[in-house]
Amino acid sequence: MDGLKLLRRRFNPISALAVLAVLLLAPRAGLARVILISIDGLRPDAIDLADTPNLDSLIATGSYSALAQCELPPATLPNHTTMLTGVSVETHGVWFNTQVEGKVGVRTLHDEIADAGMRTGFFASKGKLGYIAHEESIETFELRGTIVELTDLVVEQIANDPLDFIFFHSRQPDSTGHQFGWLSDEYLAAIELADEQVGRILDAIDDAGLDDVNVLVTGDHGGEGMTHIFNVPAVRLIPWIANGPDIAVGRTLCSEIHQRDMAATVLALFDLPIPESYEGEPIVEAFKDTPQTQCDPVAPILGPPCLILLIPAVGFMGLWFAWGKWRRSHAVPELYKPAAE
Ligand SMILES: [Zn+2]
Repeated sequence: MDGLKLLRRRFNPISALAVLAVLLLAPRAGLARVILISIDGLRPDAIDLADTPNLDSLIATGSYSALAQCELPPATLPNHTTMLTGVSVETHGVWFNTQVEGKVGVRTLHDEIADAGMRTGFFASKGKLGYIAHEESIETFELRGTIVELTDLVVEQIANDPLDFIFFHSRQPDSTGHQFGWLSDEYLAAIELADEQVGRILDAIDDAGLDDVNVLVTGDHGGEGMTHIFNVPAVRLIPWIANGPDIAVGRTLCSEIHQRDMAATVLALFDLPIPESYEGEPIVEAFKDTPQTQCDPVAPILGPPCLILLIPAVGFMGLWFAWGKWRRSHAVPELYKPAAE
């Protein structure tokens, strides 16, 4: 944390030089690695309901908050973009939650880490997350729809070449939540499947003899009923878990934590300077060398229900369904298509 102590939120040339000196003097071997795990649609209260020995162990021997907040709109791509850029949705502009061509126009966490001479990986289980992956900053990019297969690749990567920073995204339990409902038995089973993958990653770290890995686990949003569109605690609250050599043990965090704080936290764990453009801050309360913040943990105050965000969403979905219906009704069945000449 030496670099972090030298760096305050406000960038100034003297602290930047001091951080640079620390970075130049510190050999790479002395710096920790980071694995950031995002479990899509994971509600913090569901960790208590499901059988999750691996997440439980990370919480018990690390630092934890069940009251971190995701961004509005509480959807996958806007929140992962914030998680991996350190800025709000207003700033990065990714309000949409669909797979589109092109790449996000702001610098990513992978960009910052790669520019510091470190090597990164990006393992995702939803294609739309490719929008946040700048190829030039990512050494290993893998996309698999099945989280067990994706975890196979992460485990293999850690065993053969552990990289400095790995981002891993599990599409479960979100996919099951949409099908069977949040907190349903099926949703809890999907959390248990995700927890097993976390366990496999932790085992891979142990098997590789790596004792320098800080593991961060969070989510992109919660959910209620069959979806996650309203600005209510069940949707807005996400878990925030940190565990590793630089993390305080057995600490329940009472800092107010937002999605945008994750990127700054990762950079702080690497002792890298935090860009002035970042809107999040490192959650230093989770760090081993920082005293615990003295406050009573209270539920964060969420804003009014985001009905205003719902209006364009419902409008868009209506148009999308109407277009699909029109297309299907006008499609020529294969049977009646004239044979090619
Ligand atoms: Zn979803």
